[in-house]
Amino acid sequence: MTNNMFFIANWKMFGDLKSINSTKKVIKFSKNKKYKRAQIIYCPPYTLLDKFLKITKNSKIKIGAQNCHQSQFPGPYTGSINASLIKSIGAKYVIIGHSENRVSGDTNHIINLKVKSAIKNNLNIIFCIGETLSEKKNKKTNSVLKSQILQGLKNVKNNKNIIFAYEPVWSIGTGIIPKNENLKKQISLIKKMINKHYKLKNPKIIYGGSVSTKNIAELKKISSINGFLIGGASQNSKNFIDIIKKTIN
Ligand code: PEP
Repeated sequence: MTNNMFFIANWKMFGDLKSINSTKKVIKFSKNKKYKRAQIIYCPPYTLLDKFLKITKNSKIKIGAQNCHQSQFPGPYTGSINASLIKSIGAKYVIIGHSENRVSGDTNHIINLKVKSAIKNNLNIIFCIGETLSEKKNKKTNSVLKSQILQGLKNVKNNKNIIFAYEPVWSIGTGIIPKNENLKKQISLIKKMINKHYKLKNPKIIYGGSVSTKNIAELKKISSINGFLIGGASQNSKNFIDIIKKTIN
């Protein structure tokens, strides 16, 4: 296990050709040896993947897609992109199971098919799990996370190319983050679940949900976290760099 820290930018459905220019600052920053532990991964909309691959070519920044279709094979799936197409353009990562896709129909079974297809294509997976506010209120957090892990990774052999992103749904885009003591406990429970059910000793677990320049100093105190999945704040290069600097100093 390295002590690399992941900083994964999820641009969601934001970003046009012009917005790529601002990332030049991040590319330059990524070459600073002082922050060599930072593994930066950009997940822009599909339309910008190729541009991002080109612009980051001579840097250590990696590129990922935000989702993929579950079919391994080409087919009549209008508007969809599968893992094989993502791989074919040179992207190395794919986000699977993001709550914004779970609400629009991605069941644990579909997510499982996506994971298998991404593995077949040698993509690294950012596997998102997290409970909704009502699940949290009804004390269902652990059972929800357990079924997301067990069903989402059903018949998947322990695979070192999976990064687990714990993203409480009630924290995404709300500015609300869990208290450190609760987050620490939750991360440790998730680690135990992964050890037990997925037989992976040192899983990489990152946190996502309203990470910002304001709360990063607090979040980084949790040493069991291997990095962050960052939505809103990653679209502003200055803020994104600030988050990395404040984490690794
Ligand atoms: C996300 O969508 O993965 C996310 C963490 O978003 P935000 O940082 O905006 O809460």
